[in-house]
Amino acid sequence: MSVLVLGGTGEARALASLLVADEVSVVSSLAGRVQNPRLPDGEVRIGGFGGVEGMVAWLRENQPHAVVDATHPFAQQISRNAVAACAVLGVPLVRLVRPQWEAQPGDQWTVVEDIGEAARVVGSSAARRSDEAHRGHRELRVLLTTGRQDVGAFAGIDNAFFLIRVVDPPTGALPPHHRVLRSRGPYGLDDERDLMVAEKIDLLVTKNSGGELTRAKLIVARELGIPVVMVARPAEPCGNVVTSVEEAANVGRK
Ligand code: NAP
Repeated sequence: MSVLVLGGTGEARALASLLVADEVSVVSSLAGRVQNPRLPDGEVRIGGFGGVEGMVAWLRENQPHAVVDATHPFAQQISRNAVAACAVLGVPLVRLVRPQWEAQPGDQWTVVEDIGEAARVVGSSAARRSDEAHRGHRELRVLLTTGRQDVGAFAGIDNAFFLIRVVDPPTGALPPHHRVLRSRGPYGLDDERDLMVAEKIDLLVTKNSGGELTRAKLIVARELGIPVVMVARPAEPCGNVVTSVEEAANVGRK
């Protein structure tokens, strides 16, 4: 019995540990984007498969009895590839995706469809703030937590300051006024409060990744009355969705 876990998330690592503990043979697959990834238990392969064709070839060669797509909710291409490749060979596929965050009373969220719309909302807020500049307001200060691949969308905004929090440094275009803060969660309430107060953050930009490890920033934003630009999740291509590691492990054990 063996399971292919498409990983790169905490849930994928937790799933690999559960299955390995149950003596199910697991291969976890990582994209290879992060310099020092936290490695899951069991076997690990790193790097793209080479599209749908490459994944089909890998599945043919390695014959897992099931695939669990436990990639990040915003990693769309790999999830689409998994649906297509598993359909070709009839390999059972389950999508493990953590529940999304829901707005609570007191939250000031602007929910946007994608990162481009998030940049437009930030650009408008920055422009409004610039108009007020003659009344003594400083420029808008933004905490950007959408990950290094999406920073480029904000590169054209020259009238706001961006504190860009990332695991690895971004490689593409950056907004002119910025500082890169390299760190890796989980983040606690005190850390997030200290950061947002010390950096005088006016606006938080995040994807609706869900989960507990990075939720504290939303609680602190609510407490401090900081508005949030929340990028909504893309649609899921897989019909067979579970939201807990335990449910996914049950599929892997069958
Ligand atoms: P993506 O756009 O969905 O995938 C782009 C390509 O990267 C895929 O076509 C595939 O290449 C390769 N790939 C992605 N995940 C892979 C995996 N687990 N194993 C092997 N190849 C993989 O993915 P992404 O948004 O760049 O995310 C890359 C990885 O980072 C994912 O595994 C995800 O779980 C993790 N991650 C993403 C985010 C995010 O916000 N997107 C946040 C945190 C973690 P081939 O076509 O060559 O197979």
